[in-house]
Amino acid sequence: MKTKTRGRGRNLPVPILVLAVALVAVAALRLMGVGAAEARHPDPRPEITAQHVIPSEQYPAYPRIAAVYREAARIPQVLDGLYCYCDCSKHSAHRSLLTCFESDHGAGCDVCLSEATVAAEMTREGASLQAIREAIDGMYASAR
Ligand SMILES: [Zn+2]
Repeated sequence: MKTKTRGRGRNLPVPILVLAVALVAVAALRLMGVGAAEARHPDPRPEITAQHVIPSEQYPAYPRIAAVYREAARIPQVLDGLYCYCDCSKHSAHRSLLTCFESDHGAGCDVCLSEATVAAEMTREGASLQAIREAIDGMYASAR
């Protein structure tokens, strides 16, 4: 018969408490995730091209805007997989961040311009769409 049962009664509840806290934390994250689900990234259309992206030459007086439109035209498949946190999917029926650059909308929206800039930079660095989504979520989703 072993006699070293001294600490057992005290030690047992600790892992249970840790587990309970972890479960609550997971539940809280799930709840927060429900709100984020509204901002779900669209699935990029495989055949999408930049044919409807406004040519950067349309913005000769605005170098930053022209540069972002030029970048957007290079990565239509990436932008088509990104949610635009200016919420244009709701107020302007945009499908994805790419839609923002198929009109003047992106030129007047700092969110669109910033997201596309991040997407272009990360794409250049070889980042996956998933990594870009997470970076953009980190920029905007937590600020809600
Ligand atoms: Zn937008």
